[in-house]
Amino acid sequence: MSFDVIPAVLPALILFLAGVPAGRTAGRLVPLFARHDPAPDDDGPPPPPRCPHCATEIAFSRWLPGLPLAPGFWRHGRCPGCAREIRPSATAAWAVPVAFALAGAVLAAGPAEPGIGIPALLLFGYVGVVLTVVDARVHRLPDVLVLPAYPVALLLVGYGTFEPVLLGSAAGPAYGNLVTALAGMAALAAFYWLLWFIYPAGMGWGDVKLAGLLGLYMGWGGLGGVVSGTFLTFLCSAAFGLTLMAAGRATRKTQIPLGPFMLGAAFVVVLFGDPAALLPG
Ligand SMILES: [Zn+2]
Repeated sequence: MSFDVIPAVLPALILFLAGVPAGRTAGRLVPLFARHDPAPDDDGPPPPPRCPHCATEIAFSRWLPGLPLAPGFWRHGRCPGCAREIRPSATAAWAVPVAFALAGAVLAAGPAEPGIGIPALLLFGYVGVVLTVVDARVHRLPDVLVLPAYPVALLLVGYGTFEPVLLGSAAGPAYGNLVTALAGMAALAAFYWLLWFIYPAGMGWGDVKLAGLLGLYMGWGGLGGVVSGTFLTFLCSAAFGLTLMAAGRATRKTQIPLGPFMLGAAFVVVLFGDPAALLPG
């Protein structure tokens, strides 16, 4: 791959800087989600996002950056209920600008085929980081994060479809990519649902609800990416589990969240295309 340094570094730098304030809000979101290990007969919903000190609910609308409903929380990280500081996740705060920068660099240096569009990439970077850190910490992929991402992602993928027209490209709208993206969404949701249906203990219901979103993104470049991305997900999570077991830090019964591997593999496919295409032969 030829790599022109300056044109790739500049968008990466600009998006990194734009990612810093976005990352601040991501870091604030993460500690609002607590672990949820219900008894087998408990069908109650998981706890809403709330202050870890006093359990004051911090409602979804208040999370949206810039809304004045909980300005103290966004500005100083203080709970609107008890005014105590809620320690943000530094991992999420820095992973967002790094993900944004990666998206900018790859977009600028990558091939000229119709991309999914930078707004869709940035949404993926943001939501992907928050979900990865939350799932790694408390083994949850909260509905309040996953479900609103669907309509927004569909809207931005729709924008990506018509972006070539807006940019004056002769290629016309990327209808082919839109079709494979929607097919990827349906196929991956069905595949994870089937795995869950066959063996519910092997997979979280949250993973099933996330799968369609990832299928949408991975399917943009073709259905091969959905297959390879899914293979990569299970390969990496198995390798991680075996490494933990070899180090004596896990047993066969240890629950390892799948979400971070699903999101990581999807990000690789979205940025670099189908990894199977890079294999020799
Ligand atoms: Zn509080």
